[in-house]
Amino acid sequence: MNTSYLLDPSDRVVAVNAAWIAFAEANEAPSLPGRVMGQSLWTFIANRTVQELYRTLFHRVRATEHQVTLPFRCDSPVVQRFMALAVGLGEGPQGTLNCQVQLLREEAQPPAALSLYAAMARRAITPRSESIGNLGGEHAGDLLVVCSWCKRLEVEGWCEIDEALGRQPLLFTEPVRPITHGLCPECALAVYAELE
Ligand SMILES: [Zn+2]
Repeated sequence: MNTSYLLDPSDRVVAVNAAWIAFAEANEAPSLPGRVMGQSLWTFIANRTVQELYRTLFHRVRATEHQVTLPFRCDSPVVQRFMALAVGLGEGPQGTLNCQVQLLREEAQPPAALSLYAAMARRAITPRSESIGNLGGEHAGDLLVVCSWCKRLEVEGWCEIDEALGRQPLLFTEPVRPITHGLCPECALAVYAELE
């Protein structure tokens, strides 16, 4: 069963289905139902580029009343999840959106993914590195950027984890560069092309 959630015209989460709850529990997601319901979706999407993408997508669906489906990745430390997000009109007041997330296939992560996700988890609990916000600043080059959409890394070009390690074998040796999320040019182009 696919996970799905319903957004009201102001992008607040007003319903999630049973599969969504099961997925959140299985993945120990911080955003369990009680904390999600009634909240603005934008509370959960910190990255501005990704927010922009979702806003464009939602605007498009509301304006055309046509469903749009986009592929994306939702990885865990051990599995690569190839997913599709379908956004269409939902039941409720005008502008209600039904977002359905479908798992297309899963593949095992390369072992190096464990190091990457461990580094990301550490970042999440380290207040100092958490505050890195100025991507245009002089430290921009020190950040390791992960594409929020396809989960590739920007290491001498955008590539999967194994390839990144081939290019920089010491990538995940301590201290790991601070990690941030962005959107790679390929994903940006593909997504916006779909929305044209
Ligand atoms: Zn990407």
